[in-house]
Amino acid sequence: MSKPAATEAVYLPPAEIRRLQTRLLAWYRQNHRQLPWRESRDFYPVWVSEVMLQQTQVQTVVPYFLRFMKAFPTLEDLAGADTQDLLRSWAGLGYYSRARNLRKAARMLVKEHGGEFPRSYREALRLPGIGRYTAAAILSIAFDQPLPALDGNVVRVLSRLLCMRGDPAKSPVQGMLAAAGQQLLPVHRPGDFNQALMELGATVCLPRNPRCLLCPWSSHCEALKSGLQERLPEKGKRSEMISSRQAAAVIRHRGRFLIRRRSGSRLLQDLWEFPGGEFSRSDLADSLVKRIQGDLDLSVRLGSPLTTIKHAVTNRRITLTVYEASLKPPLPPTLSIPEARWIWLSQAGRYPLTAAASRIVQALMAEYSRGRGRANSGGTRPGLPAPSKTLTIAGAGGKTRVH
Ligand code: SF4
Repeated sequence: MSKPAATEAVYLPPAEIRRLQTRLLAWYRQNHRQLPWRESRDFYPVWVSEVMLQQTQVQTVVPYFLRFMKAFPTLEDLAGADTQDLLRSWAGLGYYSRARNLRKAARMLVKEHGGEFPRSYREALRLPGIGRYTAAAILSIAFDQPLPALDGNVVRVLSRLLCMRGDPAKSPVQGMLAAAGQQLLPVHRPGDFNQALMELGATVCLPRNPRCLLCPWSSHCEALKSGLQERLPEKGKRSEMISSRQAAAVIRHRGRFLIRRRSGSRLLQDLWEFPGGEFSRSDLADSLVKRIQGDLDLSVRLGSPLTTIKHAVTNRRITLTVYEASLKPPLPPTLSIPEARWIWLSQAGRYPLTAAASRIVQALMAEYSRGRGRANSGGTRPGLPAPSKTLTIAGAGGKTRVH
């Protein structure tokens, strides 16, 4: 097999293709992982798993998938899902637009397609949240359609197999990889081949330290022959990370805490959080007090910082300072906005929380379970995390990334 330059078309000789197919499929039969969405070829679990696996690793997805399928076992259940139930089932997985799009698409399938998934690639692309990769994966796995599904793992494997230079996110290289994927795809059970290729990328042809000794394609791999397996695929320029300073308050009143629902078209819409926001000014505490007064019409007194949470959302590196807070008299008789609630800590699980709010709740619960605080204790000051403690949120793929 010759190495293609970035402008050449990819041509794989038929005999070579057959050898590659046979070796990969034999390896897959012996080595594939037992995963819950592989138990059937019904499009619904295949679709849910493919959407969950976007940007997220398999081991992270498994418990979420099981929980989601228990909550919404059928397409019709998902189409009729309440927003809060939907978000609660997704909470912690990140990229919440995926959950909303799943429900939107489920409604379209029920209403316009009689509860079936369209068999046409073009029709599938019309569904919210379904891009080229996801459409190809679902149609090949559930309906045996010969469409190559190029996710990040597959792109890595093919780039190395063919020793493809250049950025695979750019069109000439992308087109060549798609052409190679199409040529390699067998007519019989193309979905198995696609899954085998994804599995090879996920378990053997790893981004760092690929396990070439275990690879069924090692004798064909051009990158291995050239010693470039660690350097491919080549990467384009990454977008710069932006720093964001945020603050939130754990406002305590008679043993309960105030949370509020994010509204409008904001990022993380409909998830619940502790009151706060993003601030550019250096006097974080002062800005936070003013924001709470403006947003919730509550006067609060801040205590010292309870904890700092560091996480990343897309290209934003966020440092969230969490303060303890109490209400300043005179106390309002009721809350002025319906999207805010006083809750006992033990009730937090009923609400779909943002990743940062979940970590604050976990920290509060850890303190309670250590006996330094008492939940539901009517006015008793709860134990809280030590001021200097810094938490790092590790979600899907090591970061919390949310649309
Ligand atoms: S031989 Fe190594 S680099 Fe090449 S495809 Fe296999 S695991 Fe990847």
